[in-house]
Amino acid sequence: MAEKTPRDLYEIIGVAPSADQSEIKKAYRAKARECHPDVAPDDPDSEGKFKELNFAYQVLSDPEKRKVYDTWGLEGVNGRATPDFGGFGFDDFGSISDLFEAFFNGGFGSGPFRTTRSATRPRRFTGKDVHTSITISLEEVLTGTKRELNLRRRVSCESCGGRGVAPGGLIVCQRCQGSGRVETSRQSFFGTFMSSRVCPECGGSGEVIKERCRKCGGNGFEWEDSKIEVEIPPGVENGDRLLIKGRGEGNGNLYVTVEVEPHPHFEREGENLLTTVTVDIAEAALGTNVKVPSLDGDLRLDIPPGTQPGSTLKIKGKGLPELHRGKKGDILVRVDVSVPRHLTSGQRKILESYLQARKGKSGR
Ligand SMILES: [Zn+2]
Ligand SMILES: [Zn+2]
Repeated sequence: MAEKTPRDLYEIIGVAPSADQSEIKKAYRAKARECHPDVAPDDPDSEGKFKELNFAYQVLSDPEKRKVYDTWGLEGVNGRATPDFGGFGFDDFGSISDLFEAFFNGGFGSGPFRTTRSATRPRRFTGKDVHTSITISLEEVLTGTKRELNLRRRVSCESCGGRGVAPGGLIVCQRCQGSGRVETSRQSFFGTFMSSRVCPECGGSGEVIKERCRKCGGNGFEWEDSKIEVEIPPGVENGDRLLIKGRGEGNGNLYVTVEVEPHPHFEREGENLLTTVTVDIAEAALGTNVKVPSLDGDLRLDIPPGTQPGSTLKIKGKGLPELHRGKKGDILVRVDVSVPRHLTSGQRKILESYLQARKGKSGR
């Protein structure tokens, strides 16, 4: 049987030799996601495969190196056939995470690259931010308000300081002998190479848990019920978020989103309140005085004679305060004019004589 042929660099990345740079980059990214050691921690070859992939990419993504490879093959790339090319091997790449960060903007620890945690690894409970929301009325936006919140949250276990470990409950990791890293050797078409990676057993700490904290059962946290009073300042907008430091889980923060209920009479436009009053056709013509609701009691508003349908009148300073400033907006009153649908005979006579008078005046 023939000796196993070294794999072609194009084949490693999974593109045709005619591929352009963007195809190479795209294929490389896809492959890197598949075989990154953090994604496939159980595959002892994953680091070797990843380095091989990176090597192929380093060569093929550099037009000059690619040309050398296309002409001379690996011999050329490794500097044997072309001395001035310089040595170029695996060790020139820096750490895997450096590379990864360069390509994926440091997406470690989240999304598809979340590492699986072993239950034996010591880890500290650090908590997280907590989000909640409260609903207030528009009247409360005017005055500001307070709400008492019942919080059920996880706090760091006092007994173990959040580590989940009983006193003296840690032992040296057998897999890495406490070094936190494991060595692997791998045969590749470049020969044998050694590599080391973070110990999957202890996560690099060199220690594993032998005995868990009895108080928290090894979780590192306990549940705590508490009440907290949240003060909502006047002028908040629907969707505003209040930050309450240190009241999330563990040392995380609490975020309270304020939702403002819709109001039966008002629409809000920043600090201004919009409402509508309807007056009769005669009232609009002659002028009148109407009742207008406000957030703290009814007001009176003069409708001047000759007010047109759809015009807006302003009641100054009766709107909402600006957040943290207190300067108040206005109530904007839109005037609707209603035309009577049915007339009594008396009303009809009056309107007819009005029309007569108007005709006489305009000569129509
Ligand atoms: Zn504990
Ligand atoms: Zn270990």
